[in-house]
Amino acid sequence: MRFVLSYLWWPLLMAGAIGINAVGMQTAMPLLWLNVSYFSLAGAIFLLERAMPHERSWLADDGQLWADIGHTLISKSAVQILIVAPTLIGFSGIASAEGASWWPHGWPLAVQVVLGLVIAEFGFYWGHRLSHEVQFLWRFHAVHHSVTRLWFVNTGRFHFVDTLVSVTFGLAVGLAAGIPQEIIIWISAITAYIGLLTHSNVEMRFGPLNYLFNTPGLHRWHHSKKLEEGNSNYGENLMLFDILFGSFFDADRRPPVDIGIREPMPATLGAQIIHPFRRVRVDGAEPETV
Ligand SMILES: [Zn+2]
Repeated sequence: MRFVLSYLWWPLLMAGAIGINAVGMQTAMPLLWLNVSYFSLAGAIFLLERAMPHERSWLADDGQLWADIGHTLISKSAVQILIVAPTLIGFSGIASAEGASWWPHGWPLAVQVVLGLVIAEFGFYWGHRLSHEVQFLWRFHAVHHSVTRLWFVNTGRFHFVDTLVSVTFGLAVGLAAGIPQEIIIWISAITAYIGLLTHSNVEMRFGPLNYLFNTPGLHRWHHSKKLEEGNSNYGENLMLFDILFGSFFDADRRPPVDIGIREPMPATLGAQIIHPFRRVRVDGAEPETV
């Protein structure tokens, strides 16, 4: 039974969250229902992590709970400012309600959402990949990778500069393509659900889903300390561009338990915010790493 369930959890949880949001989008309070879907999924994952953890040692306290929550709140605020600021200075809204004229408005909603996910993914993929390959960006992204365990609470643990880089890449591609507002909301919701699931510590199996979506199984490789395993699976939601650009990685063994980074990272939220900036020396020389 547990074996069968392990294949069902990911599609069941995604379908549940999407179902709640689909109903909510028809009401007068879509934002409220988006939050209901998000926190219901988070609650379900919290219970499952205790009932059937993928890695029992990851249930132990790592002393990062408040840093994780702090980064999540600061990043969410930074995104709000990024989206609200253009509206305040005179643009009529960051995404036009009806989208570009080429957009296939007549297609079924689900197909339009898939199209939007693929387009935005191109930006997310390259934003994430560059955050690993460009040293300056890595300093910020290292805050996320410094965790020594994966669980749903560190889903939002991103330095706010890292979040702005990621959202700017995804949003820039999405807006340039003229994706309509309703589809942008759907992409945001699905990105939030997949993010919670990819960091979850629940025993799940994925089968062929690994070739379509960014699953927890693939993302655990991405958090490996070994660069040949960690510099892979950059997809935010979909694995399409990892497969196309040769960064897809999966192996027929258990992903590493000992995850994290090889360089030091301060323990507190404030120090973690300052850390990437301090490492940029005035003379441009790279600081020594341990
Ligand atoms: Zn990464």
